[in-house]
Parts: sequence; structure tokens; C-alpha cells
Amino acid sequence: MAKLWAFLWRIKTLVGVALALLLAGFFLTFAKRPMEIGIDAAYDEGGHRLAVTQTVLYRNPGQKPLGFLLFHIQANAYQSAKTAPVQKGKEKMSYPSGFSPGGLTLDQVLVNGEEAAYSIFGEQGSLLQIELFEPLKEEAEIRLSYTVQLPNARGRLGWFGDGVRLGGAFAVPARLMEDGSFDQSGLPAVGDPNLGEIADYELTLRLPTSFVAAGPGLEEPADDGSWRFRLRDAPELFITLSKNYCVAASRANGVRVRAFAPTEEGAALLAAQGARAVEVYSELFGPYPREDYILATGDLSSLGMEAPGFSLIDARLLRGQSALLEYVVAHETAHQWWGMAVISDQVRHAWQDEALAEYSALLYMEATKGEGGFVNHYNALVRPAAEDSALKGLPIDLPLSSFESEELYSRLVYRLGCAMWHDLRVEMGNAGFFRALSGYYRQHKLQWAEPIDLLGALGPRGARRAKDWLSGEAQPSHSSMAPWGN
Ligand SMILES: [Zn+2]
Repeated sequence: MAKLWAFLWRIKTLVGVALALLLAGFFLTFAKRPMEIGIDAAYDEGGHRLAVTQTVLYRNPGQKPLGFLLFHIQANAYQSAKTAPVQKGKEKMSYPSGFSPGGLTLDQVLVNGEEAAYSIFGEQGSLLQIELFEPLKEEAEIRLSYTVQLPNARGRLGWFGDGVRLGGAFAVPARLMEDGSFDQSGLPAVGDPNLGEIADYELTLRLPTSFVAAGPGLEEPADDGSWRFRLRDAPELFITLSKNYCVAASRANGVRVRAFAPTEEGAALLAAQGARAVEVYSELFGPYPREDYILATGDLSSLGMEAPGFSLIDARLLRGQSALLEYVVAHETAHQWWGMAVISDQVRHAWQDEALAEYSALLYMEATKGEGGFVNHYNALVRPAAEDSALKGLPIDLPLSSFESEELYSRLVYRLGCAMWHDLRVEMGNAGFFRALSGYYRQHKLQWAEPIDLLGALGPRGARRAKDWLSGEAQPSHSSMAPWGN
């Protein structure tokens, strides 16, 4: 016993150091916890309004105390036809019954229980600055009460027919950039960007009984008829509602996949395609990052739209050719890896997730239909862009603000971006290529990643080649189309 005491006495410094390290580790983990956002919302069908009470346990994501807080209130972008995020030429499709305004009316802002001063600014009136009583070092409780008026429109936010989309309906804490400033981006007409800090969401939604709600982390309906959603590590929470949703479920690699569509067959098809895509990408890049995956149809002004744990597919696609539907499901599901798990700046560097999501859709075709499936899609979609002299010399890495229409954006960022990824795959060989992508995914899963993180994952040679493409200096060639020999 005496020997044991003597031994313990001798190692006491070591034990002290180990304990200190453990504690430091604990506090570091504690400091990195995401914000917690609790939302209570009720939908008034007659007025097309959403009444919201939102509590944000705001955790300073940076190292320096914050003098004020910034939130995006995207619904305000829909106040006028001039500021609404609608592409030129798509006005009629977005607003079939003519322009209809939306917006957010703020009733109260509390900081740690006390009424706080605030201002609303930005070109679209979509930025909310909240003043603090003292600089925020660690955390504060922010409580917002507001009403969202939905426009009668297709797209991210609005009501149309029997359906409602609530993309950007809730206030999201603006991302704190590396230089210590908040991201003040508005909602662009082209693209579908992430603007929020990573947070854990809990939503309780009260709806008229005629509605079914769809969205990520949907739980079993509560006894009181309300709908509950729980979503972790996400830059936003996107919900849709419909009076015509049928539900189908499937499973893929331990992930529950649920689909919501106007017909039983449509929901079953969507669930099966979503599950297949989850299987393919889990195999290629690493396991799907969440417990469940939801797909739903909605009235969109584009083919599809991604959100964390959730893909929206334009309702018209279910009535059309199923090959296009499968391609769109493959593209949107790939975003669950690129953009929604590895979270990237879709406003300034749209190529980082879009080109990779599009190339992943080609990989899905290869995995499910063989090399022919890949080559057919490459020849139909990518080759025309790679041979388009109008795109020669144009950088793929452009901010969304450079694009007036989806047409050039899609040819340059998606299609020529796909040619870039294929060129990199041929250059790096299959083993190196997939090792790089799965490494990038593993390292940055459920965190923000910069373009340099993706380039870094490609190794020095791959990164040099990618930079040539991104700056417009690479010359597309199809001389070695097939990487399959590697
Ligand atoms: Zn996309």
C-alpha cells in the first residue's frame, strides 16, 4: 500500500497535466457547440401568414466579442417586384397571377429578456441588425416575434394552389466570416445560397388539419396535432406544406428516406430514387451525414432545390419523363454531401458545391446504368459546354452576382464545371480522385469549408489543374474520356 502511495505521489504532476488537458478538451468542445434555434410557428391559411416566435441561444462563433448581431430576414426580399429574387424572363412563371408581395413584420426583439434596439437594412431590406447591451463574448438569448406574409408565388417562399414553401421564412443568424465581419449577402435571383451560421433547429408548427408538412427531421405528429422537426448542424431549416401530400418511405444504408408527393406512385418513385442516390454516394464519398432524408415536391421556378436533409423537386417533373426526374433527384441528393454537409459559400464560390453535385449526378448514372449511362449524359450535357467557344477563357469561379440568367450560370458552373471534374478524375486516376473527395467530405462534414480546403484535398498537381479551370485558363479536351482503366 505504501508503495502504491509513493508511486501515485510521484506521478501526481502527470495526472494533473492529463486532467488539465481533459478539461481544456471539454471546454474547447463546449466552445464550438452550434447555436440552438427553437421556433414556434402557426400558419394562417386564409391570410397566408406565418406567426413566429423564435428563440436563439446565440453562441459567438468567433474569437472576438461581438458589438452587434446580424440576422437574415429573407422574406423581406419579396416586398417589391424590384427586389424579389426572380430571374429576368421568369416573372410570369414565378408569379402566374401577377406580382404578389411578401415580407416580414417584426413585433419584438429581446436580448436576454430585455427589449433591444434594432434596424433593418440592405438592398432587399433583408438584414436585421440587433444592438446589444454589452459586447457578446460567449452567448446570449435572442427572442424574436414576427409575422411572415407569404407571396402568391412559385419558388423558395410562397403559396401556390394547395402548396406552401417556407424557404427563408425564419430569421437565420448571419455567418461570421473569417475577417470577423458578418455575411451581408442578399438573396440573389440566380442560385440558392446558404447564408446562415450552423445551428441546431427545433420547430413546432401548428397547421390547419387539411395540411401535411414535410421537412428534415420530421417527427411523428404530436398528440395536439402540431408538427415537430429537429435538425442538427444546419445553415437553415426549410419546410413545405401541402394539402395533397402522400407519403412513402424507404431505407438506404441505415438512413430513413421519406418522400412526399401528390400521388402514392409519385411518392414511392421519389423515395426509391432518393434511397438509391443515398446508397451510391454513401459508397463513393462516405456515409450520409444525417439520420433521415426527406424529399418533397413543390411548386418551384427551377427543377429542384436543396436544403439540409431535404430536397425539393418541382412538382411538374413527376408528370413528365422519369429520366429527367431521376437526374434531378441525383443532383439534389448529391448536395446532401456537397453544400449541405460540407457547407460552402454558394454566393461567392457557387462552383464549390454545384459543379461537384452535377458531376456526382453523372457518377450516379455510371453506378446505376454503367459506363454507357455516364457517357450518354456526358455527351448530352457536358460536351456541348466544353466545346462552346463562348465559354472559352471564362472563369468557372465567379460570384452569383455575375450572372443575370440561369442559362449562362448553368452552362459555365454546372456543365463546364463538370468537364473540370472529369478532367481531374482522368488526371488523378479513380483511386486518387475518390480518395481526395472522401477525404474532403470526412474532414469538413457539417462545417463550413473554403475553396482552398477543396483544392488542398486534391493534392498539389490536382489543385494546380483545378486552378487553371477555375480561372478560365484550361483548354477542355475529351482526348481521354475514360478513367475506368485505372
Ligand atoms: Zn445544385
